[in-house]
Amino acid sequence: MIRFPISNLLSEQKCYDELLDTLHPNGLHYKNGHPLPPNQSPHDRSRAPILDYRCRECGNVFNLFTNTVWAGTHYTCTTVMLVMRGFVQGTPTLQLADELGLDYGTLLARRHQIQQLALEHKPTDS
Ligand SMILES: [Zn+2]
Repeated sequence: MIRFPISNLLSEQKCYDELLDTLHPNGLHYKNGHPLPPNQSPHDRSRAPILDYRCRECGNVFNLFTNTVWAGTHYTCTTVMLVMRGFVQGTPTLQLADELGLDYGTLLARRHQIQQLALEHKPTDS
């Protein structure tokens, strides 16, 4: 069977932009509220377009995933987008891991974490 990995068909930069809008509707900012100056150069570009910035005030390093459900992930933006799409569509974790070439245990742990957060932040009826 010939496989066409969908992740090769998506633009990493477009996925980054989409995630930035979703995870940080007010733009990137540091953990403790220190603003990210618009002209600040990244501290680390090795995972571009995911750029690490170091806060000039407190030295904390920040990127797209800091303080989000995706904190600490090593997935690319494309992978995160496809995983989120799969979660929303209810794709079984095993199938998703297989399709995207991801470790099942890691993906399952992330899924549980996101589900837990979704429950905690569920809007209450009033
Ligand atoms: Zn800071």
